[in-house]
Amino acid sequence: MAVATTPRQEVTELLQELIRVDTTNPPGNETPAAELLRDYLESAGVACELYAKIPERANLVARIPGRGDGPSLLFLSHTDVVLADASEWNADPFGGELRDGEIWGRGALDMKGQVAAEAVALASLAREGFEPAGDLIFCATADEEVGAGFGAAWLCEAHPDAVRCDYLINEGSGDRVELGGKAFYLCSVSEKMSAPFRLRVHGRSGHASMPSIADNALVKAAPLIEALGAYEPERQLIPEVEALIETVTGTRPTSPADVLERARAVAPLLAEMVQPLLSMTVSPTMASASQKRNVIPAACDIVVDSRLLPGTTPEEQQEIVRGILGNGDYELTSLESHGGTRSEIRTPLWDAVSSWVESVDPGAKPAPVCVAGFTDSHWFRQAFGTVAYGFFPSRVMPIETAARLIHSANERVPVDDLDLGVSFLRSAAKSLLSE
Ligand SMILES: [Zn+2]
Repeated sequence: MAVATTPRQEVTELLQELIRVDTTNPPGNETPAAELLRDYLESAGVACELYAKIPERANLVARIPGRGDGPSLLFLSHTDVVLADASEWNADPFGGELRDGEIWGRGALDMKGQVAAEAVALASLAREGFEPAGDLIFCATADEEVGAGFGAAWLCEAHPDAVRCDYLINEGSGDRVELGGKAFYLCSVSEKMSAPFRLRVHGRSGHASMPSIADNALVKAAPLIEALGAYEPERQLIPEVEALIETVTGTRPTSPADVLERARAVAPLLAEMVQPLLSMTVSPTMASASQKRNVIPAACDIVVDSRLLPGTTPEEQQEIVRGILGNGDYELTSLESHGGTRSEIRTPLWDAVSSWVESVDPGAKPAPVCVAGFTDSHWFRQAFGTVAYGFFPSRVMPIETAARLIHSANERVPVDDLDLGVSFLRSAAKSLLSE
């Protein structure tokens, strides 16, 4: 790519090129995207390295080495995208078309736009001769959307020296919202844990024409499913919610009930945001029993989706669930436990976010949030104790619009927001790594 004249043009062109590389996962095939980024960054004089567990699925790590042993900062992103059904779109999902100030294509929001902005921020700093106190690292990973072990999890384990960092900026939030007449930029500092489990109810099989000689596991499951559905989880006040309510209303909440009441008084959006952050959730979603109409099932399996607050363990969850179900002829099996990590809120990275927000939007403030979804920030928090925030500012596109477009048809990003993103990333690197 020829070097354009402004960061705005550069980020536009780079994103268009990235969208045109089809990295739909599965199968991913992220290597051409990693190579495109490598060529771009090397032309700005930045040293790059590809790390690949298999050749088709490369991760790119680029670095401006620090002059001393100051803190390190990593710009994290992923290059894979989810499937796009072209028949649902009003543009080619892999065309990267620029239309009315917006770039269209799969990944524009999740998250090739941020990939491009992070690369442009790094390249522009390198060209200016920026000498950070500690390493400034760029890491574009494969395989975030499926998480089959080719991306961030593998990098942190197999190549920890390449990606270890003190601070990290990733996807997750960054939307500008108005709450009670004031402007806030959401910044995610933690994530709920996804901890689905299977409830297997035991009985005894038999011919369906003689129910009395059998013990029907499906019928026995019914009251257990009802109990799970009726359960009202105990509410707790996590630090992220306390800080969010304090940021928005000016005073700290005293109880979960107080949180909801005050959130509703400010804006319905705020109440919607905090509701899932007050407790774990338990939702039975799948059921299977006999495979034959005339056979009474000896076992019935219920799959239950469950999200835990950061700090709650799967063991605590199992204990709570046993309390809901009481004694019975069943067993619980954890299906996975994914995420659920948090970073401190008051850190130098928070100060960097905060001072940038105030500089571009006087009177606005960052507001901490815990997100329900999983991001690769988890692997870095777990491996290195990294302070990881999800923050990519978005103020032109409303949060409701973006939420509707991510993983859906007609995904697109305003160039103004990309430009804002580059400005934030450059500012964060300068304020954290200048000492
Ligand atoms: Zn993503």
